[in-house]
Amino acid sequence: MSHFSSDFNVVYLRVVQGCNLNCTHCFTLGNKDKYELASLAQITEFLTSIRKNVNPKGAVFYIHGGEPFLAPKEHLRAVNEIIRSTFPDIKINIIPQTNLMFKVDQEFVDFINEEYAGHIGVSWDHGIRFQTTTRALDEDLFLKNFRYLVEKDIEMAVAITVQKHLLTEDPISIVQRLEGAKSIDFEFLTMFDKKTMDLKVNNTEWSKFYHQIVTYYSNNKTTWSLPQVDLLTKSYIENKIYQCKCNCCQHRTFTMNCNGTVGLCPDETYVAPISTVKEMANDWTSFSTKAETLYLRQLGQEINSLCTQCEFFDVCGGNCEPTLFSENDEECPLSKQSIAYQFNNIQIFQNKLQEAKENLVELRERGPSCH
Ligand code: SF4
Ligand code: SF4
Repeated sequence: MSHFSSDFNVVYLRVVQGCNLNCTHCFTLGNKDKYELASLAQITEFLTSIRKNVNPKGAVFYIHGGEPFLAPKEHLRAVNEIIRSTFPDIKINIIPQTNLMFKVDQEFVDFINEEYAGHIGVSWDHGIRFQTTTRALDEDLFLKNFRYLVEKDIEMAVAITVQKHLLTEDPISIVQRLEGAKSIDFEFLTMFDKKTMDLKVNNTEWSKFYHQIVTYYSNNKTTWSLPQVDLLTKSYIENKIYQCKCNCCQHRTFTMNCNGTVGLCPDETYVAPISTVKEMANDWTSFSTKAETLYLRQLGQEINSLCTQCEFFDVCGGNCEPTLFSENDEECPLSKQSIAYQFNNIQIFQNKLQEAKENLVELRERGPSCH
Protein backbone atom coordinates (compact mmCIF):
# COMPACT_ATOMS: atom_id res chain seq x y z
CA MET A 1 0.00 0.00 0.00
CA SER A 2 1.43 3.38 -1.05
CA HIS A 3 1.90 6.28 1.37
CA PHE A 4 0.48 8.68 -1.24
CA SER A 5 -2.87 10.26 -0.53
CA SER A 6 -5.36 10.42 -3.40
CA ASP A 7 -7.85 12.86 -1.82
CA PHE A 8 -6.33 15.85 -3.52
CA ASN A 9 -3.11 15.87 -5.50
CA VAL A 10 -0.92 18.72 -6.61
CA VAL A 11 1.03 18.31 -9.82
CA TYR A 12 3.73 20.67 -11.08
CA LEU A 13 4.67 20.51 -14.72
CA ARG A 14 7.77 22.40 -15.83
CA VAL A 15 6.66 22.82 -19.40
CA VAL A 16 9.51 25.10 -20.38
CA GLN A 17 13.08 25.62 -19.23
CA GLY A 18 14.33 29.20 -19.34
CA CYS A 19 13.05 32.52 -18.08
CA ASN A 20 13.01 36.18 -19.03
CA LEU A 21 14.20 37.13 -15.49
CA ASN A 22 17.01 36.01 -13.25
CA CYS A 23 15.78 36.23 -9.66
CA THR A 24 18.31 35.87 -6.87
CA HIS A 25 16.24 33.33 -4.91
CA CYS A 26 15.45 31.14 -7.90
CA PHE A 27 16.63 27.56 -8.10
CA THR A 28 16.67 27.76 -11.91
CA LEU A 29 19.35 29.59 -13.87
CA GLY A 30 16.68 32.05 -15.02
CA ASN A 31 17.59 33.82 -18.25
CA LYS A 32 20.92 31.93 -18.29
CA ASP A 33 19.12 28.59 -18.63
CA LYS A 34 19.06 27.02 -22.09
CA TYR A 35 15.58 27.40 -23.58
CA GLU A 36 13.85 24.06 -23.94
CA LEU A 37 10.32 22.72 -24.07
CA ALA A 38 9.24 19.66 -22.11
CA SER A 39 8.46 16.64 -24.24
CA LEU A 40 4.74 16.01 -24.64
CA ALA A 41 5.42 12.27 -24.67
CA GLN A 42 7.12 12.50 -21.27
CA ILE A 43 4.29 14.62 -19.86
CA THR A 44 1.85 11.94 -21.03
CA GLU A 45 3.90 9.19 -19.38
CA PHE A 46 4.25 11.16 -16.15
CA LEU A 47 0.53 11.90 -15.86
CA THR A 48 -0.50 8.40 -16.89
CA SER A 49 1.67 6.94 -14.11
CA ILE A 50 -0.01 9.19 -11.54
CA ARG A 51 -3.43 8.28 -12.88
CA LYS A 52 -2.69 4.57 -12.78
CA ASN A 53 -0.93 4.37 -9.43
CA VAL A 54 -2.45 7.17 -7.33
CA ASN A 55 -5.77 7.75 -9.06
CA PRO A 56 -6.51 11.21 -7.61
CA LYS A 57 -10.05 12.13 -6.58
CA GLY A 58 -9.26 15.77 -7.40
CA ALA A 59 -6.15 17.63 -8.48
CA VAL A 60 -4.61 20.96 -9.33
CA PHE A 61 -2.03 21.19 -12.08
CA TYR A 62 0.43 24.07 -11.87
CA ILE A 63 2.02 24.99 -15.17
CA HIS A 64 5.54 26.06 -14.35
CA GLY A 65 8.85 26.93 -15.93
CA GLY A 66 11.03 28.99 -15.90
CA GLU A 67 8.44 31.30 -17.31
CA PRO A 68 5.68 29.16 -18.85
CA PHE A 69 4.52 31.87 -21.24
CA LEU A 70 7.85 31.72 -23.06
CA ALA A 71 6.44 28.50 -24.51
CA PRO A 72 4.35 28.79 -27.68
CA LYS A 73 0.62 28.79 -27.02
CA GLU A 74 0.20 25.58 -29.07
CA HIS A 75 2.56 23.82 -26.67
CA LEU A 76 0.60 25.04 -23.64
CA ARG A 77 -2.66 24.00 -25.30
CA ALA A 78 -1.26 20.56 -26.03
CA VAL A 79 -0.16 20.15 -22.39
CA ASN A 80 -3.67 21.02 -21.21
CA GLU A 81 -5.17 18.60 -23.66
CA ILE A 82 -3.00 15.81 -22.20
CA ILE A 83 -4.07 16.74 -18.66
CA ARG A 84 -7.75 16.79 -19.56
CA SER A 85 -7.67 13.55 -21.47
CA THR A 86 -5.74 11.76 -18.71
CA PHE A 87 -8.12 12.97 -16.00
CA PRO A 88 -11.47 13.33 -17.80
CA ASP A 89 -13.63 12.27 -14.85
CA ILE A 90 -12.34 14.16 -11.81
CA LYS A 91 -12.44 17.79 -10.76
CA ILE A 92 -9.28 19.53 -11.89
CA ASN A 93 -7.89 23.05 -12.05
CA ILE A 94 -5.04 24.05 -14.35
CA ILE A 95 -3.19 27.16 -13.24
CA PRO A 96 -0.14 28.69 -14.93
CA GLN A 97 2.41 30.42 -12.67
CA THR A 98 3.83 33.50 -14.32
CA ASN A 99 6.03 36.50 -13.53
CA LEU A 100 3.84 38.68 -15.78
CA MET A 101 6.86 40.46 -17.20
CA PHE A 102 5.98 40.42 -20.87
CA LYS A 103 3.49 41.99 -23.22
CA VAL A 104 -0.01 41.35 -21.98
CA ASP A 105 -2.90 42.06 -24.33
CA GLN A 106 -6.42 40.96 -25.23
CA GLU A 107 -5.07 37.86 -26.96
CA PHE A 108 -3.38 36.83 -23.71
CA VAL A 109 -6.61 37.46 -21.77
CA ASP A 110 -8.58 35.33 -24.24
CA PHE A 111 -6.03 32.55 -23.92
CA ILE A 112 -6.22 32.61 -20.10
CA ASN A 113 -10.00 32.51 -20.24
CA GLU A 114 -10.07 29.66 -22.74
CA GLU A 115 -7.34 27.47 -21.31
CA TYR A 116 -7.25 28.28 -17.60
CA ALA A 117 -10.83 29.37 -16.83
CA GLY A 118 -9.56 32.90 -16.19
CA HIS A 119 -7.15 31.95 -13.36
CA ILE A 120 -3.42 32.58 -13.08
CA GLY A 121 -0.79 32.53 -10.35
CA VAL A 122 1.45 35.59 -10.41
CA SER A 123 4.75 36.10 -8.62
CA TRP A 124 5.93 39.48 -7.43
CA ASP A 125 9.17 39.97 -5.55
CA HIS A 126 10.91 43.05 -4.33
CA GLY A 127 14.57 43.80 -4.97
CA ILE A 128 15.58 40.38 -6.27
CA ARG A 129 14.04 40.01 -9.68
CA PHE A 130 14.22 43.25 -11.57
CA GLN A 131 17.58 42.69 -13.13
CA THR A 132 16.76 42.60 -16.80
CA THR A 133 16.72 46.34 -17.39
CA THR A 134 16.28 49.06 -14.81
CA ARG A 135 14.25 47.95 -11.81
CA ALA A 136 11.82 50.86 -11.88
CA LEU A 137 10.86 50.21 -15.47
CA ASP A 138 10.29 46.54 -14.87
CA GLU A 139 8.26 47.07 -11.76
CA ASP A 140 6.12 49.50 -13.72
CA LEU A 141 5.58 46.84 -16.37
CA PHE A 142 4.43 44.35 -13.75
CA LEU A 143 1.94 46.79 -12.22
CA LYS A 144 0.68 47.91 -15.61
CA ASN A 145 0.02 44.28 -16.59
CA PHE A 146 -1.49 43.50 -13.21
CA ARG A 147 -3.97 46.40 -13.42
CA TYR A 148 -4.86 45.51 -16.99
CA LEU A 149 -5.70 41.94 -15.97
CA VAL A 150 -7.73 43.11 -12.96
CA GLU A 151 -9.81 45.22 -15.31
CA LYS A 152 -10.29 42.18 -17.51
CA ASP A 153 -11.54 40.13 -14.53
CA ILE A 154 -8.66 37.67 -14.56
CA GLU A 155 -8.44 36.01 -11.15
CA MET A 156 -4.92 36.32 -9.82
CA ALA A 157 -3.31 34.54 -6.90
CA VAL A 158 -0.19 36.53 -6.05
CA ALA A 159 2.85 34.89 -4.49
CA ILE A 160 5.52 36.94 -2.73
CA THR A 161 8.72 35.42 -1.37
CA VAL A 162 9.63 36.25 2.21
CA GLN A 163 13.17 37.62 1.91
CA LYS A 164 15.10 40.46 3.43
CA HIS A 165 14.62 43.01 0.62
CA LEU A 166 10.87 42.71 0.96
CA LEU A 167 11.12 44.12 4.49
CA THR A 168 12.56 47.40 3.17
CA GLU A 169 9.18 48.18 1.60
CA ASP A 170 6.08 49.53 3.32
CA PRO A 171 3.82 46.47 3.81
CA ILE A 172 0.56 48.34 3.45
CA SER A 173 1.56 50.04 0.24
CA ILE A 174 2.41 46.60 -1.23
CA VAL A 175 -0.99 45.10 -0.51
CA GLN A 176 -2.77 48.24 -1.63
CA ARG A 177 -0.93 48.04 -4.96
CA LEU A 178 -2.18 44.47 -5.28
CA GLU A 179 -5.83 45.30 -4.69
CA GLY A 180 -7.79 43.38 -7.32
CA ALA A 181 -5.95 40.10 -6.65
CA LYS A 182 -7.87 37.13 -5.27
CA SER A 183 -5.20 36.11 -2.81
CA ILE A 184 -1.76 37.13 -1.59
CA ASP A 185 0.44 34.34 -0.36
CA PHE A 186 3.76 34.85 1.39
CA GLU A 187 6.01 31.99 0.46
CA PHE A 188 8.94 30.97 2.56
CA LEU A 189 12.39 30.98 1.08
CA THR A 190 13.99 27.73 0.05
CA MET A 191 17.62 28.05 1.07
CA PHE A 192 19.91 25.92 -1.03
CA ASP A 193 23.06 28.01 -1.54
CA LYS A 194 24.89 31.06 -0.20
CA LYS A 195 22.91 33.61 -2.19
CA THR A 196 19.60 32.24 -0.94
CA MET A 197 20.88 32.01 2.63
CA ASP A 198 21.88 35.67 2.38
CA LEU A 199 18.23 36.52 1.73
CA LYS A 200 17.00 35.01 4.99
CA VAL A 201 14.91 37.32 7.19
CA ASN A 202 15.11 37.87 10.91
CA ASN A 203 11.77 36.45 12.06
CA THR A 204 11.14 39.22 14.59
CA GLU A 205 11.43 41.81 11.82
CA TRP A 206 9.39 39.67 9.45
CA SER A 207 6.69 39.28 12.10
CA LYS A 208 6.42 43.07 12.57
CA PHE A 209 6.05 43.50 8.82
CA TYR A 210 3.54 40.69 8.38
CA HIS A 211 1.51 41.70 11.41
CA GLN A 212 0.74 45.04 9.79
CA ILE A 213 -0.69 43.19 6.79
CA VAL A 214 -2.74 40.81 8.94
CA THR A 215 -4.14 43.77 10.92
CA TYR A 216 -4.94 45.62 7.70
CA TYR A 217 -6.65 42.48 6.37
CA SER A 218 -8.86 42.24 9.45
CA ASN A 219 -9.84 45.92 9.44
CA ASN A 220 -10.52 46.45 5.75
CA LYS A 221 -12.60 45.04 2.97
CA THR A 222 -10.10 43.57 0.53
CA THR A 223 -10.45 41.77 -2.79
CA TRP A 224 -7.67 39.43 -1.66
CA SER A 225 -7.46 36.89 1.07
CA LEU A 226 -4.42 35.67 2.98
CA PRO A 227 -4.55 31.88 2.55
CA GLN A 228 -2.06 31.17 5.34
CA VAL A 229 -4.12 33.18 7.82
CA ASP A 230 -7.40 31.70 6.60
CA LEU A 231 -6.01 28.21 6.88
CA LEU A 232 -5.07 28.81 10.52
CA THR A 233 -8.61 30.06 11.17
CA LYS A 234 -9.89 26.88 9.56
CA SER A 235 -7.59 24.77 11.76
CA TYR A 236 -8.74 26.68 14.84
CA ILE A 237 -12.45 26.25 14.08
CA GLU A 238 -12.24 22.63 12.97
CA ASN A 239 -9.67 21.68 15.59
CA LYS A 240 -7.63 20.04 12.87
CA ILE A 241 -4.06 20.64 11.75
CA TYR A 242 -3.65 21.22 8.01
CA GLN A 243 -0.23 20.11 6.90
CA CYS A 244 0.16 22.79 4.32
CA LYS A 245 3.22 24.77 5.26
CA CYS A 246 6.44 22.97 4.42
CA ASN A 247 5.60 19.33 4.72
CA CYS A 248 2.58 18.73 2.55
CA CYS A 249 4.48 17.72 -0.56
CA GLN A 250 5.83 14.32 0.34
CA HIS A 251 2.54 12.51 0.24
CA ARG A 252 0.48 14.28 -2.36
CA THR A 253 2.63 16.37 -4.72
CA PHE A 254 4.43 15.36 -7.91
CA THR A 255 6.78 17.48 -9.98
CA MET A 256 8.19 16.89 -13.42
CA ASN A 257 11.18 18.90 -14.60
CA CYS A 258 11.50 19.89 -18.20
CA ASN A 259 14.15 17.23 -18.84
CA GLY A 260 11.97 14.36 -17.59
CA THR A 261 13.43 14.03 -14.11
CA VAL A 262 10.82 13.92 -11.34
CA GLY A 263 10.30 14.35 -7.63
CA LEU A 264 7.82 15.57 -5.05
CA CYS A 265 8.37 19.11 -3.69
CA PRO A 266 8.78 21.48 -6.68
CA ASP A 267 11.80 23.33 -5.24
CA GLU A 268 13.67 20.22 -4.15
CA THR A 269 12.91 18.48 -7.41
CA TYR A 270 14.73 21.11 -9.41
CA VAL A 271 17.88 20.80 -7.32
CA ALA A 272 17.66 17.11 -6.43
CA PRO A 273 15.16 15.02 -8.42
CA ILE A 274 14.59 11.53 -7.05
CA SER A 275 13.70 9.69 -10.21
CA THR A 276 12.71 9.92 -13.87
CA VAL A 277 9.50 9.67 -15.84
CA LYS A 278 10.81 6.41 -17.27
CA GLU A 279 11.19 4.86 -13.83
CA MET A 280 7.77 6.08 -12.70
CA ALA A 281 6.21 4.50 -15.75
CA ASN A 282 8.16 1.23 -15.72
CA ASP A 283 8.83 0.60 -12.05
CA TRP A 284 6.40 2.49 -9.81
CA THR A 285 7.45 0.45 -6.74
CA SER A 286 10.98 1.68 -7.02
CA PHE A 287 9.86 5.31 -7.44
CA SER A 288 7.39 5.00 -4.58
CA THR A 289 10.00 3.51 -2.23
CA LYS A 290 12.29 6.49 -2.83
CA ALA A 291 9.39 8.88 -2.23
CA GLU A 292 8.43 7.09 0.97
CA THR A 293 11.98 7.34 2.28
CA LEU A 294 11.78 11.13 1.92
CA TYR A 295 8.40 11.16 3.61
CA LEU A 296 9.62 9.14 6.59
CA ARG A 297 12.72 11.30 6.89
CA GLN A 298 10.53 14.37 7.09
CA LEU A 299 8.18 12.82 9.63
CA GLY A 300 11.19 12.01 11.78
CA GLN A 301 12.57 15.56 11.58
CA GLU A 302 13.06 17.11 14.99
CA ILE A 303 10.55 19.83 15.84
CA ASN A 304 12.04 23.21 16.68
CA SER A 305 12.11 23.94 20.42
CA LEU A 306 10.21 27.19 19.81
CA CYS A 307 7.36 25.09 18.44
CA THR A 308 7.33 22.44 21.17
CA GLN A 309 6.85 25.19 23.76
CA CYS A 310 4.41 27.20 21.67
CA GLU A 311 0.82 27.79 22.79
CA PHE A 312 -0.32 27.49 19.17
CA PHE A 313 1.30 24.17 18.45
CA ASP A 314 -2.01 22.26 18.49
CA VAL A 315 -3.40 24.49 15.77
CA CYS A 316 -0.28 25.08 13.73
CA GLY A 317 1.48 21.75 13.96
CA GLY A 318 4.93 23.37 13.84
CA ASN A 319 5.88 21.97 10.47
CA CYS A 320 7.98 24.80 9.02
CA GLU A 321 11.39 23.86 7.63
CA PRO A 322 14.12 24.02 10.34
CA THR A 323 16.17 26.44 8.17
CA LEU A 324 13.45 29.09 8.59
CA PHE A 325 14.15 29.48 12.32
CA SER A 326 17.09 31.28 13.88
CA GLU A 327 18.71 30.71 17.22
CA ASN A 328 17.78 33.24 19.90
CA ASP A 329 14.91 34.59 17.81
CA GLU A 330 11.66 34.45 19.76
CA GLU A 331 9.59 34.79 16.62
CA CYS A 332 8.81 32.07 14.11
CA PRO A 333 8.15 32.11 10.34
CA LEU A 334 4.39 32.18 10.93
CA SER A 335 4.52 35.15 13.33
CA LYS A 336 3.22 34.22 16.77
CA GLN A 337 2.30 37.86 17.21
CA SER A 338 -0.12 37.65 14.28
CA ILE A 339 -1.55 34.30 15.33
CA ALA A 340 -2.25 35.65 18.85
CA TYR A 341 -4.00 38.65 17.30
CA GLN A 342 -5.95 36.37 15.00
CA PHE A 343 -7.22 34.08 17.75
CA ASN A 344 -8.09 37.05 19.99
CA ASN A 345 -10.26 38.35 17.14
CA ILE A 346 -11.45 35.04 15.82
CA GLN A 347 -14.94 36.23 14.85
CA ILE A 348 -13.50 38.78 12.43
CA PHE A 349 -11.21 36.15 10.92
CA GLN A 350 -14.05 33.67 10.68
CA ASN A 351 -15.90 36.18 8.51
CA LYS A 352 -12.75 36.68 6.47
CA LEU A 353 -12.52 32.91 5.98
CA GLN A 354 -16.08 32.85 4.68
CA GLU A 355 -15.31 35.56 2.14
CA ALA A 356 -12.10 33.79 1.15
CA LYS A 357 -13.90 30.50 0.60
CA GLU A 358 -16.19 32.18 -1.88
CA ASN A 359 -13.13 33.45 -3.73
CA LEU A 360 -10.84 30.47 -3.57
CA VAL A 361 -11.80 26.97 -4.57
CA GLU A 362 -8.54 25.82 -3.00
CA LEU A 363 -9.64 26.80 0.49
CA ARG A 364 -12.84 24.83 0.22
CA GLU A 365 -11.09 21.69 -0.87
CA ARG A 366 -7.65 21.80 0.67
CA GLY A 367 -5.07 24.18 2.00
CA PRO A 368 -3.33 26.76 -0.16
CA SER A 369 -0.58 25.66 -2.47
CA CYS A 370 3.10 25.84 -1.74
CA HIS A 371 4.25 27.62 -4.85
S1 SF4 B 1 10.60 34.63 -12.58
FE1 SF4 B 1 10.44 32.65 -11.50
S2 SF4 B 1 11.46 31.14 -12.82
FE2 SF4 B 1 12.05 33.19 -13.54
S3 SF4 B 1 14.02 33.60 -12.54
FE3 SF4 B 1 12.37 34.50 -11.27
S4 SF4 B 1 11.82 32.91 -9.75
FE4 SF4 B 1 13.00 31.93 -11.41
S1 SF4 C 1 6.40 28.69 16.98
FE1 SF4 C 1 5.33 29.36 15.14
S2 SF4 C 1 5.64 27.71 13.67
FE2 SF4 C 1 6.08 26.89 15.72
S3 SF4 C 1 4.15 26.03 16.46
FE3 SF4 C 1 4.24 28.13 17.18
S4 SF4 C 1 3.15 29.31 15.64
FE4 SF4 C 1 3.67 27.36 14.72
